[in-house]
Amino acid sequence: ENKSSSNFLKNIVNEDLKSGKVDHIITRFPPEPNGYLHIGHAKSIILNFELADEFKGKTHLRFDDTNPAKEDTEYVESIKEDVSWLGYEWDELFFASDYFEEMYNRAVLLIKKGKAYACDSTAEEIRQMRGTLTEAGQGSPSRDRTVEENLELFERMRKGEFKDGEKVLRAKIDMASPNINMRDPVLYRIAHATHHNTGDTWCIYPMYDYAHPLEDAIEGVTHSICTLEFEDHRPLYDWVIRECEMEKVPHQYEFARLNITNTVMSKRKLKQLVDDKVVDGWDDPRMPTISGLRRKGYTAEAIRTFAREIGVAKADSVVDSKMLEHFIREDLKLKAPRTMAVLEPLKVVITNYPEDQVEMLEAEINPENLEMGTRQIPFSREIYIEQDDFAENPPAKYHRLFPGNEVRLKNAYFIKCNDIVKDETGKVIELRCTYDPETKSGSGFTGRKVKGTIHWVDASQAVPAEFRLYEPLILDEDEEDGTSFMDHINPNSLEIVYGYVEPNIQEAKPQEKFQFFRHGYFNVDPLHSTQGHLVFNRIVSLKSSFEL
Ligand code: ATP
Ligand code: MG
Ligand code: MG
Repeated sequence: ENKSSSNFLKNIVNEDLKSGKVDHIITRFPPEPNGYLHIGHAKSIILNFELADEFKGKTHLRFDDTNPAKEDTEYVESIKEDVSWLGYEWDELFFASDYFEEMYNRAVLLIKKGKAYACDSTAEEIRQMRGTLTEAGQGSPSRDRTVEENLELFERMRKGEFKDGEKVLRAKIDMASPNINMRDPVLYRIAHATHHNTGDTWCIYPMYDYAHPLEDAIEGVTHSICTLEFEDHRPLYDWVIRECEMEKVPHQYEFARLNITNTVMSKRKLKQLVDDKVVDGWDDPRMPTISGLRRKGYTAEAIRTFAREIGVAKADSVVDSKMLEHFIREDLKLKAPRTMAVLEPLKVVITNYPEDQVEMLEAEINPENLEMGTRQIPFSREIYIEQDDFAENPPAKYHRLFPGNEVRLKNAYFIKCNDIVKDETGKVIELRCTYDPETKSGSGFTGRKVKGTIHWVDASQAVPAEFRLYEPLILDEDEEDGTSFMDHINPNSLEIVYGYVEPNIQEAKPQEKFQFFRHGYFNVDPLHSTQGHLVFNRIVSLKSSFEL
């Protein structure tokens, strides 16, 4: 596989190793287990694992589980599965909650140094007193408590003597700092909630800005890579490491998060789609989750190539969703067997073909990859073609079937439409055609030409199948006009049609991928497919206007 080219983080690591600032590197992927991972997380996973890999370092998978109310072991398990599926093996697996005791002790150290205090102000009061960019903050009335008082109050917080919100522990830094993050940030809050890992042991929980640097330092992480919104938090990150007197000193670096057009990229919002049953679960193929993309039929390789190609930047941008589609087409082009599927069938009777005769036609499995060999396709008197491939009154330049016109059946013969059979409502339900035995595919026939080639399946042996066709779940996500992403849900994001596939893929297994001639790439849905009932998810159509 092609590894991504140079990026600013590689340059930093390279320098740090050369200068002896570090003698090995450790990165981490630190998800909060409050939802399933999405394609944005994939970018971070690939970045962290490949950066360490390139410099023979290590990568930790660490669950940043400091917020009991929203976290769950279901999410822990799904995250592990997704990271593995993407193709990465963590060197160590950690839970931030395993460090709660150490974090508590470091907070006690801060109090003893006069660098932290128990504060009685409410969340709203704290927000008000922190001031604005142009206006300095004001100290809380609790700011001048003595060390003894603070030690006692913090211990009582831990013991559960106060209700949620009644007290917090704050760092004592600088209420006039131009960086609002440094205006006595909250380090601990009270939450009487059961934690997925520590149960009811704790009722105080560390805040992200306090916990994260400690987690990194405890594990010996050298390069702690996060998204740009945390750039202003870096001074606080360094403050925590320094004032808590951590032995190992990690450094934070920021890169631009991945945004994709018409794609919701936030666990909170994705959870709302699941909870409100807009989709049928986190792994619904319309979801930009790793599990949704996998179920739709995306391969780990395509996602890795995509992440490498978009690169690692220092400025935010939005990637066209067509780019992701481009990479799955590229990946499957040589791998996926090609076959014919009729999604919306119309019966065709070939009146001059002998009854009770079935012949086997040979076709390449993948004309772009001849090593895949050939397959046998049955052909007989009755076949199905696509309803769209017939027009009773053809528009201009229509080269498919219409009364009196001749087309090529892919891998078979020319057929000509002679008659139409309609039901009592006037709907066309059958075509009566004739074929020309001289025109057999592969025979070298050059007698005359036809303009259209259409696909088909043999009616006597066709295997019924369900096809799920997807459109974007969100249309023009634009929250600037005051609307929410929930106001932009596409009501037609899923269309289900029933048709037929060639008999030679009857035994297709969940997650097997095919290219259906003219229709695109499809994946056997692992949830809805059962023995005797094949369900295919369309991964992507064949055509693309996207150019790299
Ligand atoms: P969300 O808001 O979707 O929950 P998050 O950043 O809160 O995202 P975490 O579980 O904290 O989710 O993220 C784990 C790691 O993934 C973090 O290091 C974070 O920076 C990174 N990450 C999350 N979203 C993106 C994204 N869109 N692009 C790149 N990295 C991301
Ligand atoms: Mg987070
Ligand atoms: Mg989040």
